[in-house]
Amino acid sequence: MRVLITGAAGFLGSHLVDRFLVDGHQVIGMDNFITGSSDNIAHLRDNADFEFVQHDVTNDMSVAGPLDGVLHFASPASPVDYLELPIQTLKVGSLGTFKTLGLAKAKGARYLLASTSEVYGDALVHPQPETYWGNVNNVGPRGVYDEAKRFAEAMTMAYHRFHGVDTRIVRIFNTFGERMRPADGRVVSNFVVQALRGEPLTVYGDGSQTRSFCYVSDEVEGIYRLFESDRVDPTNIGNPDEFTVQELAELVLEEIGGRSTIDFLPLPQDDPKIRRPDITIARDVLGWEPNVPLREGLQRTIPFFRALVEKGAVARTLMDSDAR
Ligand code: NAD
Ligand code: UDP
Repeated sequence: MRVLITGAAGFLGSHLVDRFLVDGHQVIGMDNFITGSSDNIAHLRDNADFEFVQHDVTNDMSVAGPLDGVLHFASPASPVDYLELPIQTLKVGSLGTFKTLGLAKAKGARYLLASTSEVYGDALVHPQPETYWGNVNNVGPRGVYDEAKRFAEAMTMAYHRFHGVDTRIVRIFNTFGERMRPADGRVVSNFVVQALRGEPLTVYGDGSQTRSFCYVSDEVEGIYRLFESDRVDPTNIGNPDEFTVQELAELVLEEIGGRSTIDFLPLPQDDPKIRRPDITIARDVLGWEPNVPLREGLQRTIPFFRALVEKGAVARTLMDSDAR
């Protein structure tokens, strides 16, 4: 197969590129580096099966030659990023989805949308099955991401129903691992970098809110299987082991040691109180379930951040980072 992956210089996109290449496919990666980094694809520079195109996917795009798949992963994904880039986030979820669906239609390619557990918002059903319609504050600060993804799902289903495009929708739950931008503001990267520097861990609120963390290799395998399956309806891919943010902080401190304490800071507006995927469909239809527990995932991830901290290559904010 020859596939296009947007967001290829990001955290998940770059791991997905690797997964397709390992199976002998050809990959075109597309990215504008707004939250990604060329470091994430530097190892592919001499790979004849990989080609990179720097392009903003909200603009018209053309790709020469045949395509069997289009996987749309471009979008700011960390709350800190999408609060700082609200218009770009809305545009990449709407116009970017429109342009990439158009490309898939023109090429007769299968299409996969990277959607998110954020479509469930501050969930009132727990755990969250795919049939839950969600509880999103469309005019709150997180609405720029949540509504862009909800629109993207609606657009993807419309292209499937109206144009017959062969589509897939993955709802990704909190994923972590190597190649996350250390300053992207998500909780695992924040806590690990803070602990490695001996700084206080910043727990927002009282730390009782929950998330269910999936290690990147598990997540990418689930997405790959979904792409290869014939399931059109949205599918949750995530790890159902649920932790409070306080428990995560304690686990990180146990693994890294050192002298960090915990600081409690205000909870951001509309921060979901609970989140856990119901993965019955992924188990039954894809034969997939995660097999890397949180502690083991942290043990694999920490050396990546340790190397960056030791090199002094950790920007404090998005505005300082290479990506901007
Ligand atoms: P990331 O920020 O590391 O990667 C996103 C990539 O998209 C970056 O390289 C960025 O430069 C690129 N991009 C953004 N706007 C673009 C545009 N207009 N044109 C071209 N490239 C653009 O984030 P990630 O964690 O790798 O997330 C990837 C995808 O998975 C996103 O669509 C995100 O919504 C989804 N997702 C991720 C998670 C997670 O836990 N990591 C959870 C739910 C959904
Ligand atoms: N969080 C935290 N400290 C941080 C970063 C995040 O306590 O330094 C909390 C955040 O408020 C949320 C959870 O950790 O409740 C997960 O946040 P993240 O930004 O990783 O992703 P989200 O699931 O909110 O999109």
